[in-house]
Amino acid sequence: VLRMESVRKTFGGSVVLRDVDLAVAPHTVTALIGASGSGKSTLLRCANLLEDIDDGAIWLDGEEITDPRVDQDAVRRRIGVVFQAYNLFPHMSVLDNITLGPRRVHGASRAEAEERARGLLERLGLGDKADAYPDRLSGGQQQRVAIVRALAVRPRLLLLDEITAALDPELVGEVLEVVRGLKDDGMTMVLATHEMGFARDVADQICFLDGGVVLERGTAEQVFGDPQQERTRRFLRRIV
Ligand code: ATP
Ligand code: MG
Repeated sequence: VLRMESVRKTFGGSVVLRDVDLAVAPHTVTALIGASGSGKSTLLRCANLLEDIDDGAIWLDGEEITDPRVDQDAVRRRIGVVFQAYNLFPHMSVLDNITLGPRRVHGASRAEAEERARGLLERLGLGDKADAYPDRLSGGQQQRVAIVRALAVRPRLLLLDEITAALDPELVGEVLEVVRGLKDDGMTMVLATHEMGFARDVADQICFLDGGVVLERGTAEQVFGDPQQERTRRFLRRIV
């Protein structure tokens, strides 16, 4: 679904991503792990074309999206994104938050958009929250609404950046449960996370980033069970 080749990203002379290769197969979950500042968020932002890359190329479903002739808005419409802070519009109901994208960007009718939104809310255990305003929801509920909003446009790929980092510990589980459910439904996802137990549990592929380099990658068993690099071992010792 997504492929990166030799991606390089610099910010004012400092290299943040160096020669990053990544291949994400359909219906798989890729977890990006690594210390703060290692480049996880930047990688996700490059994949969504929120950042221009300095070198290399990125493909989405076989189309080179880093080609300057490509319609960037059209590419972003095929990718759902959820960030750490839920970013819901506070002055809009849950239902309006979710249906805004499908109606404005994808030209769906109100009835069509609302039907899909209600279906998704139901599935994520938020069936009774359609008319609520975000400030009446818990952090976990808000983050689940943000996930519904990302799904409402039927993305090919979902990018999740530390979606549990701002949550109270007791609310983390319900959001991770949702991600697990999406995986079972076959959604293709790339997520950055500090939740190692979750990464180990849900990811088909783990990429350990260190100073903007994918230092180690493999299945959860490989990376967590038998890390090949001393730096990976040190990181995992520190965090687990
Ligand atoms: P965290 O776990 O804390 O979220 P991260 O792995 O997501 O960290 P990034 O946010 O990708 O790390 O940052 C990687 C590096 O790029 C950091 O050194 C950061 O300071 C730098 N950086 C990120 N965004 C910018 C920017 N817009 N301008 C300049 N430097 C940036
Ligand atoms: Mg980050």
